Amino acid sequence: MKKIGTVNNTKRILEENGFFMKKKFGQNFLIDQNILSSIVSKAEINKKVNVIEIGPGIGSLTEHLLENANHVISYEIDNSLIPILTKEFADYDNFTLLNKDILKANIKEDIKTYFKDDLPVYVVANLPYYITTPIIMHLLENVPEIKRYSVMVQLEVADRICANKGGKDYNNLTIAIKYRAQTQKALTVSRNVFMPKPNVDSAVVIFDIYDEKPYNVDDEAFFLRFVKDAFVNRRKTLVNNINNAYKLPKEKLEEILINNNFNPMVRSEALDIEDFILLAKLIKDNL
Ligand code: SAM
Repeated sequence: MKKIGTVNNTKRILEENGFFMKKKFGQNFLIDQNILSSIVSKAEINKKVNVIEIGPGIGSLTEHLLENANHVISYEIDNSLIPILTKEFADYDNFTLLNKDILKANIKEDIKTYFKDDLPVYVVANLPYYITTPIIMHLLENVPEIKRYSVMVQLEVADRICANKGGKDYNNLTIAIKYRAQTQKALTVSRNVFMPKPNVDSAVVIFDIYDEKPYNVDDEAFFLRFVKDAFVNRRKTLVNNINNAYKLPKEKLEEILINNNFNPMVRSEALDIEDFILLAKLIKDNL
């Protein structure tokens, strides 16, 4: 292994290729081999797993994935990184590099085309921070083939994803993910292991997608929209957020809450997934 993700090798590759990192693509490259090994080990990557990587950069994490996984598809938006990655990984026959924006790619089609073996598909990525949430939501909503996500995100986003009800971090992202998956914060990562060094620390969060969701929801689209609407303004009560979104009289909403043993002044952060499922159904039935 070349160990691309070290200070010296990263500097050398950047210099040799005349490459300058681009802030607009959220380019902060990992330069610590211990962290890279830990990510791959926590992600449980082995030869019986196919991996999708988002944003390989100069290949620090990609190299560890190629060594451990059956096959890796990496999506990289920045075309000036393509010749660098192609050269670095010329010797690997388990690598597919796609110069595509992950939000625009036809991932389902790419999975069919490039993963020849029928193995579980995992995502492993050090995500570009400017579009962390859109990427996670896009994949969760559109690519059910993915069974496990191990993603590096800003610590603050990791806390939001893994939050419990009642806390300041708990919001619609928490619920949208926990509804679909078991989540864990697997690793906290210092800002010092990136080049350039970002202003915040990071964490790797892992989501294991439920084979069968432990929740019973009739209208999933309505439920997920309801959760989003319920958190539009954190300073408002649930009734005030919902009243804006669904144009139901406030009195009617308060009556629904009281009749179902909720405080009419309740705020969304005090409600768990089961509460939201029940309330979404009750509101929908009254529209
Ligand atoms: N994986 C590398 C590492 O850990 O050193 C680089 C991670 S860096 C935080 C994020 C990478 O995502 C960059 O290489 C960036 O160019 C790429 N990227 C940004 N937006 C993207 C998008 N929409 N689709 C695919 N890749 C993207």
